[in-house]
Amino acid sequence: MPCELSIVIPAFNEGEGMSHTLDVVKTVADEAATSYEIIIVDDGSSDGTSGVVAAAHAITPEIKGIVLSRQFGKEAALYAGLRHASGNAVITLDADLQHPPTLIPEMLEHWRKGAEIVHGVKRDRHADSLLQRFAASAYNAVFSRLSGFNLRGSSDFKLLDRRVVDVLTQSLPEYGRFYRGLSAWVGYRQVSVPFDVAPRESGESRWGGLGLVRYAIRTVTAFSSLPLMIVPILGLVMLVIAIILGIEAIYSKVSGDAISGFATLEITILFTGSLVMIGLGVIGQYLARMFDEIKGRPVCLVSRVIGLDSSPDFQQ
Ligand code: UDP
Ligand code: MG
Repeated sequence: MPCELSIVIPAFNEGEGMSHTLDVVKTVADEAATSYEIIIVDDGSSDGTSGVVAAAHAITPEIKGIVLSRQFGKEAALYAGLRHASGNAVITLDADLQHPPTLIPEMLEHWRKGAEIVHGVKRDRHADSLLQRFAASAYNAVFSRLSGFNLRGSSDFKLLDRRVVDVLTQSLPEYGRFYRGLSAWVGYRQVSVPFDVAPRESGESRWGGLGLVRYAIRTVTAFSSLPLMIVPILGLVMLVIAIILGIEAIYSKVSGDAISGFATLEITILFTGSLVMIGLGVIGQYLARMFDEIKGRPVCLVSRVIGLDSSPDFQQ
């Protein structure tokens, strides 16, 4: 049965705070929507998150769950949630209550007035450390310069109209998914609502430093092929330097001065070598993305569902 609102919550080892999160989200949804479902996507948790969801479902049938066969990452969990959601509007929200559910009525208000995507935009990042804020703004600057989409302050806290959900899940079947980028890319009527990032309710961030670096590289290369231009540009710069050095060498020979020493040659070879390696590395990243896409593997596998029809497209 389609409902008015689906709330999709990806969760990796969030068992500790899950009951509280469900209480808070349910209270808001009871008020704000005529009919709703809350779908927790358990991203391969090992702390019994899915048990909490199953117990909650037994009491409140609107609370449903998707249990992935292992940890596939937040992007995949969001995708699985969108695939199973039946709402005319779908809101995606973090399990740690860093995305305030109190904003849900305002998002729905925008949607009822015709907005097809409502972006929750972070007003401040006080909950983050100085280093995290610096890394985020450096990443946003690079991403917007290269892709043409400004994702400053953007978050995974969004409302999507059914039409947009269908586009994201059916027309954009890419394997390397980037929810924030894709939902900006699709267009349609988009509005933003600012929110303050609350501190995490319990536990630590599920991201490691290396995971975030990998995420940054993946998302930039998924949205822009401009880094590939670095290779020919560096090549041209090296060519110009080589020509200038060549002219200088000929001039020195003609004018009878000693030709510059061995060190120049050595530095040039090392410099060129490193540029070639950087260039190959950049090309390699795109090859890796193509490799991932060409294999055509499913974004994730569902091991079981709680209170939902299992989608035939997912292997069980
Ligand atoms: N998450 C997930 N799979 C992962 C990492 C995170 O489903 O591999 C979920 C996590 O449970 C939370 C949301 O994604 O609901 C955001 O994660 P987190 O709070 O750790 O990220 P941060 O707020 O630090 O960006
Ligand atoms: Mg968080």
